[in-house]
Amino acid sequence: MSLPIRAALITAATALSVQAAVAQEVNVYSYRQPELVEPLFDAFTKETGIAVNVAFLNKGVVEKLEAEGKRSPADVVLTVDVAQLDSLIKAGVTQSVNSDAINASIPEAFRDPEGHWFGLSSRARIIYASRDRVADGEVTTYEDLASDKWKGRICTRSGTHDYNLALISAVIARYDVEYAEKWLEGVKSNLARKPQGNDRAQVKAIFAGECDISIGNMYYMGLMQADPEQKPWADSVRLVFPKFENGGTHLNVAGIAMTAAAPHRDDALKLMEFLASEKGQAIYAEVNNEYPVNPEVPASDLVASWGEFTPDNTPLLALATNRAEALRLVERVGFDE
Ligand code: FE
Repeated sequence: MSLPIRAALITAATALSVQAAVAQEVNVYSYRQPELVEPLFDAFTKETGIAVNVAFLNKGVVEKLEAEGKRSPADVVLTVDVAQLDSLIKAGVTQSVNSDAINASIPEAFRDPEGHWFGLSSRARIIYASRDRVADGEVTTYEDLASDKWKGRICTRSGTHDYNLALISAVIARYDVEYAEKWLEGVKSNLARKPQGNDRAQVKAIFAGECDISIGNMYYMGLMQADPEQKPWADSVRLVFPKFENGGTHLNVAGIAMTAAAPHRDDALKLMEFLASEKGQAIYAEVNNEYPVNPEVPASDLVASWGEFTPDNTPLLALATNRAEALRLVERVGFDE
């Protein structure tokens, strides 16, 4: 085990053991950022009295759970991508959860039939387009991002990021690997600069005149609008919900899985049921600017104002199964170089 990983383990274990004296608690490993999950956990604790302890991670949760084995303090893992959920299951570090309440709240398309993972919110990966330099209707499909007319006009984060790998996986699912490679080569040849930064950094680049369109998850619009420094970036773009020529808009889910070792199984289940409930889902809608997966809960007014779209019908799991191939394509076309 390398030193940095060992250090991370110790830090997380220390953070979690501080709460060990509390009678009722749930321990969470989260890929989601603090500002996105803390409002949910606060509401859960207020309602149930159950404390939630969180270790925030950037990567390596599968390896961490494998290393900790049966002694892992973690009860649940929160992810930002369906492929992350799938890799947890493939590694055997999750357990099946059977809850009528969860099954009634979350449509089948957003959960594992075996109960090993549940989507909690969905997000569209869309196009941010310059208000000044991109005409209404100039870009409407993902396929079009590879067209010559965008030469030197597109900005994006790394092709190896989970969000882009999921999009490339969707292209593979809709067509085939050969088409996806050509498409990715086309997009690469249209880039204004080397892939870098996060989704918001691309909108900043549009604001600065470096590129005209970027690829990003829709909820970042809300975060930028709420941040005085980033508001001008948000104001410089329009949101375009592109679709596949014969499909809809690409969606991914943020979700949850219960660990195989979960030391607080009952309380963890209560947390999962809360997150799937109308109350929990309303927080996803209002605080995170995402789409609730519970059909009883509407999107927030702000998110609804960004536009309507037809979700692509590619099964979510295809995003996970095509991920390795998508990564190979990114490397083969030298997307990040
Ligand atoms: Fe994100």
